[in-house]
Amino acid sequence: MKSIDLSPAALLPFTRPSIDERTIAEVAEVLRSGWITTGPKCQALEAALSRRCGGRPVRLVNSGTASLELALRLCGIGPGDQVITTPLSWVATANVVLAVGATPVFVDADAKTRNIDLDRIETAITPRTRALIPVDLAGLPVDRTRLNEIAAAHGLRVIEDAAQSFGSQWGGRVIGSFGDLVSFSFHANKNLTSGEGGCLVMNDDDEARRFELLRLQGVQRLPGGGMDVAAWGAKANMTDIAAAIGLGQLRSIDDFNARRRRLAQRYFERWDRTLGFELPPEDAQGHGNWHMFQPLLPRDLAPARGDFIAAMKNHGIGVGVHYPAMHLFSMFRAMGYARGDFPVAEDIGARTVTLPLFPAMTDADVDRVCDAVGAVAASLRRA
Ligand SMILES: *Cc1c(COP(=O)(O)O)cnc(C)c1O
Repeated sequence: MKSIDLSPAALLPFTRPSIDERTIAEVAEVLRSGWITTGPKCQALEAALSRRCGGRPVRLVNSGTASLELALRLCGIGPGDQVITTPLSWVATANVVLAVGATPVFVDADAKTRNIDLDRIETAITPRTRALIPVDLAGLPVDRTRLNEIAAAHGLRVIEDAAQSFGSQWGGRVIGSFGDLVSFSFHANKNLTSGEGGCLVMNDDDEARRFELLRLQGVQRLPGGGMDVAAWGAKANMTDIAAAIGLGQLRSIDDFNARRRRLAQRYFERWDRTLGFELPPEDAQGHGNWHMFQPLLPRDLAPARGDFIAAMKNHGIGVGVHYPAMHLFSMFRAMGYARGDFPVAEDIGARTVTLPLFPAMTDADVDRVCDAVGAVAASLRRA
């Protein structure tokens, strides 16, 4: 057997951004320009994102979390209101509901898609329900056709948490180019990054204007150099430094996502099906961007997930967990949620592992991960 270099430099992480030299030079230009906060680069990025979203208005903010929270405020959602979402997401998805004083109401995940179970949404709707926040876990899109039908039938707003699904499609249409409000994140780990950042896609210019006030201190500029503030606003504007990174990424995003799709395909080809892992759903109608590749551990190995991750690290391979079912976090337990409430999400959350998948990976890297998974599973079963 070939010896493996176990120095930290040899670790294959589960993800890593690809920033090219041209982008680095463009960031340096911004730094030299004397204008490093919100400016022309942000304007250019908003315009470019809008073109990708069918011409709909797009406004940047400094995180996907800010985008979601300000989207809720844009809808006038606050104390006394309920917002339906999935327990299988990054905790930001529910934190923003709490941030505006509303109540997150979880609905279990679907075992096949791992996204919110569309068959269960209607039983969770009450007279206080105001909005749905679907999440495209790993970039695999929620069925937008059914989701939007449910929302329309009950007069609900939809705030798509598309943090992970930039470049994914539903029914041949790019996520963000249709629907109600659509939120993207440009966090370092997302398919398209600006270091930190995010944006909201909206329906019309009136929403965009109101969002601009929410994004920056509520400040309205008046003719003649004066200003007024009619209502509170956050401090959530993006910098031109970040926007320059985003613009550079946008040049490559279609290649990045094609490469991710190819690597995911290789995982499916090379995976040893006798090991008993449950592979992620292979796209049905949707067209995912392969933000993550997440097999579920076989049930006999699930209690040893920590050992699995440690053993993979010994093979020089980084493994993540995205995510444990969030209703089991102590904050949500204190709100009354308990184990057993959402058995599908709990099962997926207990068994999921995120394996390396990012554009700069080679086919040989995928093969190495597959080999290591086989070796680690065998050794854990012997133990
Ligand atoms: C990353 C992420 C967020 C938050 O985005 P930030 O830019 O980190 O604030 C929200 N929801 C989901 C599903 C995410 O993956």
